[in-house]
Amino acid sequence: MNGKVFIGGKWLAPTSGKTIPVIDPGTGEIFNEIADGEAADIDLAVQAARRALKGEWGKFTAVERGRALSRLGQKVLEHYDELVELESRDCGKVLATARNDIKLLARYFEFYGGAADKVHGEVIPYQNNHAVRVVRQPFGVSGHIIPWNYPTQILGRSVGAALAMGNAAVIKPAEDASLSILRLAELVAEAGFPDGSFNVVPGYGTTAGAALISHPGVNFVSFTGSPQVGTIVQQETARNYVKCVLELGGKSPQVVFADANLDRAVPAIINGIIQNAGQTCSAGSRLLIQQEIYDDVVARIADRFSKLRTGQQSADLDCGPIINARQLGRVQRFIEDAVNSGARIVAQGELAQDLPANGLYVAPTFFADVPRDHMLAKEEVFGPVLIAMPFIDEADAIALANDTEYGLVAGVWTENGGRQQRVAEAINSGQVFINCYGAGGGVELPFGGFGKSGHGREKGFMALEEMSIVKTIVHNFEQ
Ligand code: NAD
Repeated sequence: MNGKVFIGGKWLAPTSGKTIPVIDPGTGEIFNEIADGEAADIDLAVQAARRALKGEWGKFTAVERGRALSRLGQKVLEHYDELVELESRDCGKVLATARNDIKLLARYFEFYGGAADKVHGEVIPYQNNHAVRVVRQPFGVSGHIIPWNYPTQILGRSVGAALAMGNAAVIKPAEDASLSILRLAELVAEAGFPDGSFNVVPGYGTTAGAALISHPGVNFVSFTGSPQVGTIVQQETARNYVKCVLELGGKSPQVVFADANLDRAVPAIINGIIQNAGQTCSAGSRLLIQQEIYDDVVARIADRFSKLRTGQQSADLDCGPIINARQLGRVQRFIEDAVNSGARIVAQGELAQDLPANGLYVAPTFFADVPRDHMLAKEEVFGPVLIAMPFIDEADAIALANDTEYGLVAGVWTENGGRQQRVAEAINSGQVFINCYGAGGGVELPFGGFGKSGHGREKGFMALEEMSIVKTIVHNFEQ
């Protein structure tokens, strides 16, 4: 599989003949290679997917699709240790995070395996002697662009739902994180998916990715990544009148009221920002605290932050490395610029001693008293950087929580039942957690954004609706 594309059930050399080196972000060492796929490979993959739809895969019943997905979930669990190790090294994930990701990959296939035959459509009362059925059909060829931060979870949720509905998938993994998805392709074949139903073309975004989103043979696109590329995806798919789901970034608030149970809130707030070294779209990166308890909460969070430890993935500390040098530079620049503009660092975690010289590490950093219009309060850092800001009352909390272009996830911490509901309803966000926080969690829970966080919903049953098209069939049976 190394250096190859997976098309029509076969491993092929990429048409460019070129490969991309795979770097361990914990050490900087090159330890593998992936294909540098481009437009010609995407074209072959789309053709293979189309053949699968006309052939064996297109004839699979919903029950058969569900069984194949359930078998795939089982295969993932059988190869759990191997996939955890691969994912951890390739993406720089501490082992605890990689373990969670692979468990969830299996869960997505189990969930969509069970759901495949439960999409029942509707019968609508209409005129006499007419029968009306509303059914859902697959779009056809679905394109999936996957980012590097949670490749397996995001593949599971988007491709799992697409296959459950009978689409044939062409997948473009991120250039920094393709290995687990390529290994999965082998398991897909073993699980009994017909050739061409699941195709993988690794490569760069501007070549393979751009070719996939603009290919006239692609009927639906699921994109997870940055808002900047999301805009390109929306423009390119619009040219072909193709629907896209955009799962983009976030600047998610954790809103802590004076009556909150802090023993519960503090660990969840810490976990919500350091998970995957902060490289999580739904990271709770803005901590909004009611002014009466502001100093107390800042002190408690600072105490925890100063004890956080960052090291190599295999050491399984609180944070691992950052995915690549460009992203590390971006996080470091955010921290430096914030310090230069007068923002106050209240605590920083520790870097382990004797880290490899070429590893990509940054200490988790906690800023307090950040002004509301500061770039740290507005822009997604995508690293282990948390900021604290005070608010006055419920109305101010809602205004501050919504003072962002994003709207992916929010946390609300209060013991007041009425306020829990009022604030949850007022925050513009795809998910709101009350007295808990699930950064990225919840296979069963519809997930997606408001505003710059994107549109469309993945996960849960709702993804099955997103990845299928409605047809209304009207039958006149008058004599
Ligand atoms: P990115 O947008 O740079 O890349 C994402 C994917 O798009 C990669 O596979 C890349 O190769 C591809 N790509 C890049 N340019 C392309 C183009 N012109 N045409 C087609 N494809 C192209 O994002 P990233 O840096 O990999 O991921 C970080 C971003 O993703 C953050 O903003 C994060 O919040 C977001 N994200 C969102 C979710 C979610 O579920 N909402 C989940 C994970 C990450």
